[in-house]
Amino acid sequence: MSFCCGASMIGTYGTLQHYRTRIHNVPLLLCPVCHRIEVHFLVENEYEILAEYAQSDGAEEVDFRDYVTSEDGRLFENCINHENDDPLELVKNQIDNALDLLALAKQWNDTQWESQLKRRLALMSRRKAQLLKQK
Ligand SMILES: [Zn+2]
Repeated sequence: MSFCCGASMIGTYGTLQHYRTRIHNVPLLLCPVCHRIEVHFLVENEYEILAEYAQSDGAEEVDFRDYVTSEDGRLFENCINHENDDPLELVKNQIDNALDLLALAKQWNDTQWESQLKRRLALMSRRKAQLLKQK
């Protein structure tokens, strides 16, 4: 749990500017006292990878959710060194990550984030079922 000004920070979503790119729906931590914002520690790696990627691509607007729910597991830091991995394994990892975040969203009573994560899980479960059928 992150603290700032002695208060625990609130999980939220927001838009961040990285050079010329605006990145929407980034999971953030917000201090209710001084309104300091930081990228949520669980997605710091993903955020940095996406920010670099968007910048090198010259994109002006990207949506974080489009990438973290993407079937392209390469944007996940923990998958980046495993390009030859079984796509089924990648999707399982992504489901595990989302479940971890979901537990956090519940703990924080962040219902909006929770429903977003549930949508993401539903998508990945469908992807997993497709992959299992192909086996
Ligand atoms: Zn603060």
